[in-house]
Amino acid sequence: MTAQIIDGKALSQRLRVGFRERVAVLREHGVTPGLAVILVGDNPASKVYVGNKVKACADCGVASFHHALPADASETEVLARIAQLNAAPAVHGILVQLPLPPQIDVRRVLEAIDVHKDVDGFHLYNVGGLVVGNTIFPPCTPYGVQLLLETTGIDVAGKNAVVVGASNIVGKPMALMLLQKEATVTICHAKTRDLAQHTILADILIVAAGKPGLIVPQMVKHGAIVIDVGINRLPDNRIVGDVDFEGVKQKASWITPVPGGVGPMTVTMLIENTLRSAERKGIAHDSWDAPTVTVD
Ligand code: NAD
Repeated sequence: MTAQIIDGKALSQRLRVGFRERVAVLREHGVTPGLAVILVGDNPASKVYVGNKVKACADCGVASFHHALPADASETEVLARIAQLNAAPAVHGILVQLPLPPQIDVRRVLEAIDVHKDVDGFHLYNVGGLVVGNTIFPPCTPYGVQLLLETTGIDVAGKNAVVVGASNIVGKPMALMLLQKEATVTICHAKTRDLAQHTILADILIVAAGKPGLIVPQMVKHGAIVIDVGINRLPDNRIVGDVDFEGVKQKASWITPVPGGVGPMTVTMLIENTLRSAERKGIAHDSWDAPTVTVD
């Protein structure tokens, strides 16, 4: 068996066509959707991620407001900037690029963002909402994975889903979203003993550990759907995921490539959340139904 490729880049482009139409409708209502991005310091990877988000905004007709603060900015300064953006009517989404320098308490910063502008979905309210399946903004990476899974046409309900990685931004919310869709969910992490014993049972295997080559074919069930969230830069500068793509492709039914799988979807779902925020704020009182994103 050779797996079919789940093409995140192509799905992103399809979704963005719809986004541009939604932006046009918003503009007719006098609203330009806006995303504010706060970058503290000059971490090169963070700069690239912020650059990609700003580019995605431009691509879809969303205004972006880039707030660069120096690496030695105090927590008070960051909180003051967030307060300003919380009050700014042109800003529908606020994103603080992580990681933050050590003098700044990440949780305090994330909790300061107005939950109605928390388009990354990292505020405690949005995280907690995942438990009961009623979050305002689903976190972008798991949200993107959910749509990639939908493109396979396979119903998640009743499937064994194994999530490798238990971070607050990917693994844990991913597991909760799969549980909400009635999968039987296992979460594995760095302390899990005998990882293969769990992964081999997965009908749906989602890997977000940040360890290149972690998942090899012997660990994968024939016909599994494999989603590789990992992004790792090798010493020769190649970007790879956590899954041995060439090997696992021979056993899986569907697989995401890296790059071109989950990565583009993460940025696209950020735009989706920003649009949804603008739609709620800008035209919620008209007799107009805000569209929810779906996959053909
Ligand atoms: P993290 O470091 O916060 O968490 C990693 C998780 O993996 C932890 O729960 C850890 O216990 C687990 N883990 C580590 N080694 C393991 C092992 N050998 N076996 C089982 N579990 C193990 O990382 P993160 O922020 O969740 O990101 C994970 C990966 O996903 C990274 O490569 C990151 O670059 C990538 N990422 C990609 C996107 C995207 O858009 N594609 C978005 C976010 C993160």
